[in-house]
Amino acid sequence: MSALCTRDELRRRFKAYERQRAIVSAIGFTPFLVIYVLVHTRYLRSWLPPSHEAELVVLIALPAAWFAMVMLVHSWLAPGLLGLRCAQCGHRLLGRSYADALETGQCNGCRAPVISDPTSAGTQGPSGT
Ligand SMILES: [Zn+2]
Repeated sequence: MSALCTRDELRRRFKAYERQRAIVSAIGFTPFLVIYVLVHTRYLRSWLPPSHEAELVVLIALPAAWFAMVMLVHSWLAPGLLGLRCAQCGHRLLGRSYADALETGQCNGCRAPVISDPTSAGTQGPSGT
């Protein structure tokens, strides 16, 4: 993957990341919905643990841990797959780093250039690479 990209390309990659994140968070949230449905029917009640604390672990802590794990894995893997990492230091170009990269054309972590058109606002058209 090339080290530099245009501002438009960076915006496109970030939009793709946000779209993907919405899908991944829906996958992460599914156990909450499934358990909510099951707990309002008689299917789950029969194999819930007898104590109230253990019941809370099964109904809340496990789905929450699953959700956190799914989101964490996505935030580790997706920036690399979508080209949202600095080629020099691997810093993720998300959130504040993304905004700074668009504004300054540099990586927030190591100050290496990450934008191939740092002075224009991405309106010069294709550069050929
Ligand atoms: Zn960097």
